[in-house]
Amino acid sequence: MSNVITALNENVRGRVITSQDADYDEARTVYNGMHDRRPDAVVHCADSADVMAVIAAGREADLDIAVRGGGHSVPGFGTLDGGLVIDLSPLNHVLVDPVKRVAQVGGGATLGDVDHATYPFGMAAPGGVVSTTGVGGLTLGGGLGYLTRSVGLTIDNLISADVVLADGRQVKASDYQNEDLFWALRGGGGNFGVVTNFEFQLHEVGDVVGGPMFFEYDDATAILECYREYMMRAPEQLGCFFGWQIAPDLPFIPEDRVGDLFCVLVPCWNGPHKEAEQVLQPFRDAAEVKAQLVEVMPFPMLQSLFDDSVPTGMQNYWKADYITELTNEAIAAHVEHGARTPHISSSMHLHPINGAAQRVGADETAFGHRDKNFSPVIVGMWDDPADNEANIRWVQDYYDAIHPFSGTEGGYVNFMSDDDDDRAPANYGVNYERLAQVKASYDPDNLFHVNQNIVPASH
Ligand SMILES: Cc1cc2nc3c(=O)[nH]c(=O)nc-3n(C[C@H](O)[C@H](O)[C@H](O)COP(=O)(O)OP(=O)(O)OC[C@H]3O[C@@H](n4cnc5c(N)ncnc54)[C@H](O)[C@@H]3O)c2cc1C
Repeated sequence: MSNVITALNENVRGRVITSQDADYDEARTVYNGMHDRRPDAVVHCADSADVMAVIAAGREADLDIAVRGGGHSVPGFGTLDGGLVIDLSPLNHVLVDPVKRVAQVGGGATLGDVDHATYPFGMAAPGGVVSTTGVGGLTLGGGLGYLTRSVGLTIDNLISADVVLADGRQVKASDYQNEDLFWALRGGGGNFGVVTNFEFQLHEVGDVVGGPMFFEYDDATAILECYREYMMRAPEQLGCFFGWQIAPDLPFIPEDRVGDLFCVLVPCWNGPHKEAEQVLQPFRDAAEVKAQLVEVMPFPMLQSLFDDSVPTGMQNYWKADYITELTNEAIAAHVEHGARTPHISSSMHLHPINGAAQRVGADETAFGHRDKNFSPVIVGMWDDPADNEANIRWVQDYYDAIHPFSGTEGGYVNFMSDDDDDRAPANYGVNYERLAQVKASYDPDNLFHVNQNIVPASH
């Protein structure tokens, strides 16, 4: 191993961090506190050449390699025991071209990095709902968030990517170069190479009207019925996710309601501000709002509103599906299991993926589930490992209750846990076989296997 570390130290401009370094524990930490793993080295890559050097060293010594963007993967794909971690966090540049309305974004940037750089131009690239999430993993899995209904998934706004391949070459992938790779990158996860730069189409997004609306848990059925109907016909500039929420101790929550369970809607209206009231009225008609923080705010503020409630280091266990139709039976199951939400950071989030996201064909990108209307994810998140069994049980019981109503085996690759490996073919859906072919062309030895893995097709 010392030979590998010596070679890396000679060849990389970033830092090579091993157990001999004081900041090794910091360097090996990923978002999900369940993954206490000890890589041989975490390499902070400063540029593509560093990425190439780690790949060469890993291949030479036959070591496993994990690639880390923002480190948010719930299954802990950004780390491993033994082997090498390509940590892209130094590659967090964001360069905005306001005339062409595009941004060049480093493979290790976070959504917050992008927002910070694009907001002053009155623009945004579609991301998710938490700003600490990595652009890398989120994009390669699809990317759904507040702007999905209006401008599509994050991948629908990807113009090109610079990719270091398993053989050490760097190539450009776009509609005009390495088209098969570009197709596979858009939904195929981290299977095909290390993206050092993403080029995104930007959209006019400045200040939006958004924030959480709290409703009584007892009104959850009415809110979910309204939500499933209204999100199918509401103007597309409205993004909005549903969730369960134990009320935090915040100024807009009545003191005597802190700790109570509510259901929440979190809208993001990116249309004329004066229309917001009318656009949100159907939700208010469905049930009385008990507390809210809906106001005009910068888009980056909305995308970071929940960052503090989902910090790094907690225990995470998630389960996810896709659904076309939210049936009455499914709503009843959600309401039953939502009632037992065990922790203030735990929830079930229901994200709409209709609108612009459905105007892209199932085979146009690797993200095949274009006929689905919602992406539900049961988020188990708690502090104490001693509580793992009870919290995991809540997620699994909830999932077992709603899954029969999903009508499909697959779920969003980015919302999987580490016991979901066998779901990979269903998660990639109609595109799995073609993905396996592309994988065989670009990574025949499955060098990039620390991910929702696509097994290379055998020729
Ligand atoms: C609190 C929280 C909120 C979330 N909210 C959303 C949301 O609103 N919308 C949504 O779509 N998803 C959301 N997710 C899921 C998120 O998309 C995934 O966790 C995703 O994997 C995070 O990417 P990352 O780069 O931070 O993760 P990492 O753990 O660094 O990487 C995840 C996977 O992507 C690969 N990867 C990462 N960067 C690169 C790169 N540059 N090149 C090649 N491979 C790479 C890794 O190898 C790994 O397989 C959320 C996750 C969390 C924990």
